[in-house]
Amino acid sequence: MKYDYLIVGAGIFGSVFAYEAKKRNKTCLVIDKRNHKGGNIYCENVNGINIHKYGAHIFHTNDKEIWDYVNQFAEFNNYINSPIAFAKGKFYNLPFNMNTFYQLWGTKTPAEAQIKIQEQKKAFGKENPQNLEEQAISLVGKDIYDTLIKEYTEKQWGRKASELPSFIIRRLPVRFTFDNNYFNDKYQGIPIGGYNVIIDNLLKDIEVKTETDFFENREYFESIADKVVFTGQIDEFFGYQFGTLEYRSLKFEHETLDIENYQGNAVVNYNDAEYPFTRIIEHKHFEFGKQEHTVITREFPDKWEIGKEAYYPINDDENQQKFDQYKALAQNTKNVIFGGRLAEFRYYDMHQIIGSALVKIKKEFNEN
Ligand code: UDP
Repeated sequence: MKYDYLIVGAGIFGSVFAYEAKKRNKTCLVIDKRNHKGGNIYCENVNGINIHKYGAHIFHTNDKEIWDYVNQFAEFNNYINSPIAFAKGKFYNLPFNMNTFYQLWGTKTPAEAQIKIQEQKKAFGKENPQNLEEQAISLVGKDIYDTLIKEYTEKQWGRKASELPSFIIRRLPVRFTFDNNYFNDKYQGIPIGGYNVIIDNLLKDIEVKTETDFFENREYFESIADKVVFTGQIDEFFGYQFGTLEYRSLKFEHETLDIENYQGNAVVNYNDAEYPFTRIIEHKHFEFGKQEHTVITREFPDKWEIGKEAYYPINDDENQQKFDQYKALAQNTKNVIFGGRLAEFRYYDMHQIIGSALVKIKKEFNEN
């Protein structure tokens, strides 16, 4: 065998796995069908501005070990994500906090805001939320649901909020302080110089082939390594034999503008259904850029079908059951390690993917 590991996908999971395997004196070949490394954290530098080509990525974690780990590969700035929502003609602060409550209701104290939410929750009258709609109303009440959640969620996911799992909305903090930090995590920032710095350092001494599709030459690739690390779609790996899992796709429209500052914030959500995009990203603000020009990206949710990029797994019961069938197959597939957002079919953030890769490495090398 030429390599110990063939790693399919040069995103975070594949790159961390390759780095750790190399550290343990194993040989790896990393292949990726795109024309660059980095998966969805890839940045393209446009006249000094790092463009998050596949949507906004803000690194955050509560786990000191993961924070220290990622800091080996890049220095982070002190960016704090505070997106603004534009809804029904007005701006609101996110996540849902005392500023949002004041903007919507004029409530000035936590007690006033809590009373408002409790009243609306009571009027709704459902305990034990079963889906995103019920969960949202029971967390923040009907007014916020109607203004900031329902339309955004339904365009983002292409289905009714009442048909989506409730955990999706629990990603957002709800707090009774005037604090617009979108995350509760202890550590947060953007790598100085963009995300490619991390990937380039992880893959520094590793052979990487881009524009190389595993499925176009599967037999060959399976024959050149003892083991395969697969980070693509698990259903595709198994020939869709239990049917396709469902995903949500995205389209991005990037635009360079000859002005210094377009929207005054890195992320502005467009919550109303009348806008076909969910948000506009102005990349320079992630790194406090002072350039004379700016680059913005509109993010359009898109229906997923075979051949399109899968961005978000749709983790409802039906898909979960199908995934469990694929997972059982995976457990019986010797010499293949599955990892990452697509192979684990989980709505992972970057820090969770690093965590998952480190767990799998330890398991692989019997270090537990
Ligand atoms: N969400 C919303 N309104 C917003 C922002 C988020 O309703 O202004 C909901 C929506 O359902 C979304 C979920 O919260 O899918 C998670 O949002 P997050 O910002 O974590 O999504 P990501 O950045 O991963 O797309």
